[in-house]
Amino acid sequence: MQKVQSTCNFCAIDCNLDFYVEDGKIVRTVPTKGYPVNDGFSCIKGLSLSKQQTTVKPGALPKIRQGDGSMKEVSWDQAFNHVAGKIKELQEKYGRESVAGISTGQLTLEEFAIFGHVMRNYLQTNVDGNTRLCMASAAVAHKGTLGYDAPGYTLQDLELSDTLIFIGANPVVAHPIVWGRVRNNKVPGHKIIVIDPRRSETAMNADYHYEIRPRSDLALMYTLANILIEKDWIDHEFIEAHTNKFDEFAQFVKAFPISRGVEATGISEDRIMELATMIHTGKAVSFWWTMGVNQGYEAVTTARAIMNLALMTGNIGKPGTGGNSITGQCNAMGSRLFSNTTCLFGGGDFTDEAESRRLADIIGIDPDLMAKKPTIPYNKIIEGINAGEIKGLWILCTNPRHSWTNNETFAEAAKKLELFVVQDIYDNIESAEDATVYFPVVPGIKKAGTYINLERRMSAMRPVLPRGENEISDYECILGVAKALGMGSAIERWETPEQCFDMLRDISRGRPCDFSGVKWDEGRQWPYPEGREAEFADDQRRLYSDGVFFTPNGKANFLFEELLDNPYVQTEEFPLIYNTGRGTVGQWHTQSRTKEVKFVEDVSLKKAYLYMNTKMAEENDVHEMDQVRVYSVNGQNAVFYVKVTDNVPYDQLYAPIHYIECNKLTPSSYDKYSREPNYKGGTCRFEKV
Ligand code: SF4
Repeated sequence: MQKVQSTCNFCAIDCNLDFYVEDGKIVRTVPTKGYPVNDGFSCIKGLSLSKQQTTVKPGALPKIRQGDGSMKEVSWDQAFNHVAGKIKELQEKYGRESVAGISTGQLTLEEFAIFGHVMRNYLQTNVDGNTRLCMASAAVAHKGTLGYDAPGYTLQDLELSDTLIFIGANPVVAHPIVWGRVRNNKVPGHKIIVIDPRRSETAMNADYHYEIRPRSDLALMYTLANILIEKDWIDHEFIEAHTNKFDEFAQFVKAFPISRGVEATGISEDRIMELATMIHTGKAVSFWWTMGVNQGYEAVTTARAIMNLALMTGNIGKPGTGGNSITGQCNAMGSRLFSNTTCLFGGGDFTDEAESRRLADIIGIDPDLMAKKPTIPYNKIIEGINAGEIKGLWILCTNPRHSWTNNETFAEAAKKLELFVVQDIYDNIESAEDATVYFPVVPGIKKAGTYINLERRMSAMRPVLPRGENEISDYECILGVAKALGMGSAIERWETPEQCFDMLRDISRGRPCDFSGVKWDEGRQWPYPEGREAEFADDQRRLYSDGVFFTPNGKANFLFEELLDNPYVQTEEFPLIYNTGRGTVGQWHTQSRTKEVKFVEDVSLKKAYLYMNTKMAEENDVHEMDQVRVYSVNGQNAVFYVKVTDNVPYDQLYAPIHYIECNKLTPSSYDKYSREPNYKGGTCRFEKV
């Protein structure tokens, strides 16, 4: 029996697993003992990875839609030539930006790098990723405050903190290993605090739960900052030595007396003071946020406000501290730095000509062919298709017909495309319905590549199972189209993922994400510069311990601004808040992957459901598993089964994201900086069916 250690490619933890293989089949999957991330533990999704070998049809060929609407299998070469020819035809007829791509944080580093190279450099067009749907707000916030998209923590900080504050985060369900690390915390008297409108599974297990009104988190952060300053519970020395613009910030938050915090959040003065006092008395305070913050209309400002609290109290760069974002997908961190979408490979600016020339030299392309500007964001791609300006779309490993906000707008767009390439391990995802070309690619257990997890750790994905005839990876698929496009010397250095990794390693040299010392097969946190390996040998490292940030003067920035008006307040017509999020530990995103796992399916509802408050249900004669039709402020409606609970506030409904009905009802509204959808900001009403 052969043992192969590889990486789970669901969530951003990037657990390592030992796969035991016999006669071309995985017979056992065991979480890797001693791996610094998960040390012998994993969740049910990682353990189910072996099941994916059963659903990808061995030897499947690509398909092209025919004039009569049917899909016909063709050879890989025919498919590559068809797609390349169509891209060229559309670009000649309608302009370069008439073709676009949407990639994903589920791909490997090498895969979205080559996709970004082909689409953004060679074809000079737009590519965004579904990272835009979850981590864009954190990325923008990091760049402004820290000078680079560099979350500074290591997972060990969860075990070393005496005051852990989770804001809009539900790790019990969404990041079970994060929660496992919290449970490992042995600091005497440590406190677990949750700030969330809903009594989430994490809130149920916390010591303190602050059930604030939806979208009042920013007002709460500013109120807390004001209290900390008024009480002089701040770290003057740290602020003076390591931050910019504190005096302006202190002046600004004077407009947030405790009464304003009470009015915004709906929690009492005493409870706000209790929270501020715990921040003050904690010796190692850590703040952790995720989608409850990122998916809002003022998400970037809220994330910055959380980091401001960490900075002003000196809770950064030390064990058990930090203003820390918890990343969503297995390689969202990698896609943020190496997809060539919002920044040059390695995090540089598209206007930095010297950096652009350096990169062109490494990747073997004429500097004139380097992308000159950031991509247009995801929403502009969909709007561009609906406006008739974008005629071709290539999506990889993502399911926007389900996951895009107000998702009927994607359904409408998909029908207008002249070329719609769907590249995925499943041909039955909702997005594939209108595909004009389908590329079947192999799942992660049959390919090689690299991921970067939420704490900046490179992690190797290694082929566990051999490939059959005609089976190719996402990387090879993109390479095939690149060659058919006639890229010639511009693609010569990209022949294998390993060659690509070598180039990316060179690109990272000297940058904050420097991983020039990391070998292809290694799991290491960046930075890990070549020649300084001994200095960086510790496998649980955090950034900013020297108080130096990546801004021009090395100091972190206090960034702040006045609250925005909520675009969707409750009205008589739409009196309820429509909140969304993860359903269960076993379900992943749009369920294209987890619905094939029997032991997940056996315990999951097959139809869309939502949670309704007990009192609201009683008032409307709604009982457990009755059906209601929900009408959204976005003009759409959908039917859901009801689960009655006291864990959702009276005037809110909570719908799990794993059903297509969920995002049918979310609004077309975005954070103004990150352009991340305001998924949790809609309003609605319902009637019993
Ligand atoms: S889904 Fe996340 S927590 Fe679960 S095994 Fe995979 S990487 Fe680990």
